[in-house]
Amino acid sequence: MSNQSGKMKLIAMKFGGTSVGSAEAITQVKDIVRDTLSTESENVLVVVSALNGVTNLLQEGLVCAASGDEAGYQHVTEALRERHWQVIDNLLDGEADPLLASSNELIDGYLRFCESVHVLGEAPPRALDYTMGLGERISARLVAATLRHHGIKSQAVDATDLIVTDDQFQNAAPILDLTEAKVKQGLGPLLNEGIVPIVTGFIAATVDGVSTTLGRGGSDYSAALLGAILNSDEVWIWTDVDGVMSTDPRIVKEARSIERLTYKEVGEMAYFGAKVLHPKTIRPVLEADIPLRVKNTFNPTHPGTLITPNDLASDHPIKAVTVIREMSLITVEGKGMLGVPGIAARTFGAVARTGKSVLIISQSSSEQSICFVVPRAASGVVVKALREEFVSEIARRDIDQTTSRDDVAIVTVVGAGMLETPGIAGRIFTATGSNGVNVIAIAQGSSECGISLVVTDDDADLAVRAIHVLALADN
Ligand code: ASP
Ligand code: MG
Repeated sequence: MSNQSGKMKLIAMKFGGTSVGSAEAITQVKDIVRDTLSTESENVLVVVSALNGVTNLLQEGLVCAASGDEAGYQHVTEALRERHWQVIDNLLDGEADPLLASSNELIDGYLRFCESVHVLGEAPPRALDYTMGLGERISARLVAATLRHHGIKSQAVDATDLIVTDDQFQNAAPILDLTEAKVKQGLGPLLNEGIVPIVTGFIAATVDGVSTTLGRGGSDYSAALLGAILNSDEVWIWTDVDGVMSTDPRIVKEARSIERLTYKEVGEMAYFGAKVLHPKTIRPVLEADIPLRVKNTFNPTHPGTLITPNDLASDHPIKAVTVIREMSLITVEGKGMLGVPGIAARTFGAVARTGKSVLIISQSSSEQSICFVVPRAASGVVVKALREEFVSEIARRDIDQTTSRDDVAIVTVVGAGMLETPGIAGRIFTATGSNGVNVIAIAQGSSECGISLVVTDDDADLAVRAIHVLALADN
C-alpha cells in the first residue's frame, strides 16, 4: 500500500454535514474509513463538518440572543441537544453516556455564552467565532467514538490546536508556517501510531489561541490544508452527491457527475456560483500537486469526480454550466470616452474603493462603453461611486451615463478545452439564440477556461438548459 516514494500512504478525507448528519450516515463513514484502511491506504486522516443544520442553528441562537429574544435562544439550545442526543443514542448503544455528557457540557457552554450575548445586546464576529465551531467539536468526538466502538483506533482533535490564522474573524486566513509546524507536531505522532485523527473542520485559532473560523463551508478548506501539509497522497471530499455535477439538477434533471476536472475548471465553477467546494480549497492541493476527489458517502462505489492539475481528457470541451443570480450589469458609456486613456483604470479604481468585487468585464472595441457585473446588492454604491468619479466628464457630456441593469444573471460555460476547440462558441450562441435567449454581454471567464454570458434572470434557466444539451453531447 506504500506509494512510489516508499512512504506510508495517507488519504485525507472530509465528511460534510449530511455525511455525519444521522446515525446511519456516521455508520457509513465508519465503513468507508475501515474499507479505505484495509484496501487503499495505511493511514487515514478525517476532517468533519458539524451535523447538517447545526451551524445554522448556532448562528440563529446567537442572533436571537443579540436581539433580546431569550425564548429564541433557549429554544435553539434545546433543538441542539435533541439533534445530537438522537444521533449519539442511536449510534453508541450502551456506550453513549460519556459522549452525551461531553456534548451536553459543550451545549451548556453555548447556552451560557448566549446569556452573555443577551446581556451585552450584540454578537460581534469575534464572539460568533468563539462558539460557531461547537458543532464540529461534537461531531469530531462522535465520529472518533464510533470508530473506537468498532475497533478502529481513533482520536478527536480540535483544529484550534492545529491551524493558526490571522484575526479576521468569520473568514480567517491561515498563517502557513505556524500552521505547518503545529499540524506536523499534532498529527504526525497519531498517524505514526496508526490512529485515525478526526479533526474538526471549519475552526482554527489565532497565535494567541482566540477561536476563529475559515468561513462558512470552510471544512473543505481545512481538509485540503491538512492534506497538503502532511503530504497526503490524495484528498477526498465526501458529500451527498456523486461528485461535481455538470449543472444544477434542479434546473436540468439530466445533470450528471463529471468524471474529471482540472483545478482551474473547478475554481471557475466555484467562482461562478456552483456550490461545489469552498473556493479556497483548491489552492493548497494545487500547490502541493495532490489530486482531489469528490465522492458520495451514500454511494461510495461510484468513482465521483477526480480533480487534477492537468486534464487528460480534453476531448470533452464543455464540462459544466453554472449560473449565478442576483447580479447587476453596470455600464459606463459615452462618445467622449473614445481613445481617452485611463477611463477603464478610473472606473475600476472607483469600484475597488467601494470594496465590492467585479465578476466579469467586457468592453466593446469602439471604446464607447465599458460594462461589468457586480452582485446586485452592490449596484447602488458602485453607481454612486462612478458618478462621483466622473462628475466632470458627465457635466461635459463626455460620459453620457453610468447605468445599472438590475435583472441579470451570469451563465458560465466551463471547460478548458473549449477555447482551443473551434466552433464551440458558435454552437453555444446558436443554442441560446434558437431558444430565444437574448445574450446581453459576453466575457471570457476569469481563468481562461470558460465563457460567461450575461442574460436576464428570466432567461437564465432556459440558457442553462440549452447549453447543457451541448455538454451532454460532447461527453
Ligand atoms: N459547518 C460549517 C458550515 O456549515 C462548515 C462546513 O460545513 O464546512 O458552514
Ligand atoms: Mg460544503
